[in-house]
Amino acid sequence: MELKEYWSDSYHSRDFKLTRIGFVAIRFRWLVALLIIGIAGWIAVDWWVLDPEHFRLLWKVRLITGVMLTPLLPLSYLCKLNRRWMILSIYSLLGILLAFNLVSLWSFRDGVAIPVGYIAFPYFLLALLGVLPLPIKSGLRVAAVITLAVLATDYWLDSRSLTNGDLVDRIWLLLAFSLAMIWVQAGQLRMLLDLYRESTRDPLTRLMNRRLFVRQLEQVRHHSSPDRPYTLILLDLDRFKRINDDQGHLMGDEVLVSVANTIMDIFGPEAIVARYGGEEFIVLLPDTPLEQGARQAETLRLAVESQPVENPLEDSEVSVTVSAGVVEGNQDSIIQELLRQADEALYGAKSRGRNCVMAQR
Ligand code: GH3
Ligand code: MG
Ligand code: MG
Repeated sequence: MELKEYWSDSYHSRDFKLTRIGFVAIRFRWLVALLIIGIAGWIAVDWWVLDPEHFRLLWKVRLITGVMLTPLLPLSYLCKLNRRWMILSIYSLLGILLAFNLVSLWSFRDGVAIPVGYIAFPYFLLALLGVLPLPIKSGLRVAAVITLAVLATDYWLDSRSLTNGDLVDRIWLLLAFSLAMIWVQAGQLRMLLDLYRESTRDPLTRLMNRRLFVRQLEQVRHHSSPDRPYTLILLDLDRFKRINDDQGHLMGDEVLVSVANTIMDIFGPEAIVARYGGEEFIVLLPDTPLEQGARQAETLRLAVESQPVENPLEDSEVSVTVSAGVVEGNQDSIIQELLRQADEALYGAKSRGRNCVMAQR
């Protein structure tokens, strides 16, 4: 995992963004549910420890906070759809909880010793937010909002505290908890990204696997328009079994990695490339009509043909060729049907003697 991937989600793939948001949504929902139960349930503790005067106000504040948090539960279902809903949900949660913190501290303005649970609330909140897999940039924002709100609350309720040693103490503690929160969040993010990569990448070639590819294809189909079709190229290595049989499985693997790299080089970063099966690859060219896609497939075919793969174990090379089936899709295409057509075109290329490209409308 690269450092910039810890920093901001703008460095994450579109698919991972959606996966992460879905994960945040689930954790957020649990967090809200626990907070509702915790904040309302604490009324019993307050009844036990607070004097009647404070209790009379605070049980209502707790109940109102619980009621205000409740709409966040259905909102969390929207938040898995896009990032904006997620940000709105998280900041609504912060707003409600920081208002709760403000009102509850205000209720002790008469100089009574504030119960430790109320003093610790913002720190408790920072610790809880560690469960969300947020990138560092988002974590810093959340920490900044909480820190500033706590300092502003202190200033408003007791301006003396900002001029004595308390302030340094308070800031130090807020920073320590913020750092802990960001550290835990980054750890969550890392675990999620590692698991995501494990489940969506082919371990040999590092290309995406078929499952992720089909998801990406669905996205491209969804965003295409009649004047902007996309092209699908299904590739299969010719007589690959022979390479395995004659040169060994290790050499077979070497050939697969080499062809995967050639495909990436030829099609560039705009193309979506996956290992479709054993010795089959698939390339999705967004915004590309059939003729252009077929020309690129031909370029790849020539490149593979002209680049024999070196055997790392002995001083020899093995030549390999590919056959390709090329089809064009649009917004109305049915994915499974499109894949079937590509397979049919590939079969056509194989029956024409292999090492060729067959485009089919
Ligand atoms: P054709 O030109 O008709 O495609 O013939 P082919 O030999 O390429 O096709 P076939 O389907 O008969 O054989 C595919 C072979 O690919 C069989 C399988 O052992 C091999 N294979 C699949 N996955 C891997 C892999 O990860 N590594 C290696 N080394 N071989 C693999
Ligand atoms: Mg095959
Ligand atoms: Mg083959």
